[in-house]
Amino acid sequence: MVESSYISYVRLRDNKNNMNKKEIIYLDMDGVLVDFGKAIENFFTLHPHLRERYKTHPDHIQGLFRNAPPMEGAIEAVKKLAESGKYELFIATTAPWGNPMAAMDKRFWIEDHFGNLFHKKMFVTHRKDLLMGDYLIDDRTKNGAGDFRGKLLQFGTNWETNTVNQFPTWESILNHLL
Ligand SMILES: [Mg+2]
Repeated sequence: MVESSYISYVRLRDNKNNMNKKEIIYLDMDGVLVDFGKAIENFFTLHPHLRERYKTHPDHIQGLFRNAPPMEGAIEAVKKLAESGKYELFIATTAPWGNPMAAMDKRFWIEDHFGNLFHKKMFVTHRKDLLMGDYLIDDRTKNGAGDFRGKLLQFGTNWETNTVNQFPTWESILNHLL
């Protein structure tokens, strides 16, 4: 049977779309874009009297996420990924439930460091396994990251097990993806 010209057209269109289709990358924040460890250190240096109060749950410190320093090389690397034109980038971050302002702080942090790059491209979730996409760059397997259905690129150092992950630096990520 001869294919109708409409079906041929749809096939051609879909092939073209697939060829132009960018792969989707989700970026975790703490331990990937944000140097969370250093942020805690800086806070306790400035406010030593609060160390006892927050030592078991530093993620509840008000404003901690707003002024945290970026991970080494993170900002430049993300800009390179964006400029490559190969990927569509999204933020996938978990904001502590007991510190609701953290989600807002994180959104401002992204804008401070990336301008409009992630405008309306931010997922705040405890279930990263439900995200659809090709890559997740995350330092841990918590909050669904370990069950992400694309490829998990485990970044940096795992502070819980004190082991170096498969992609210890942003340079190693760029070597893999570009
Ligand atoms: Mg993390």
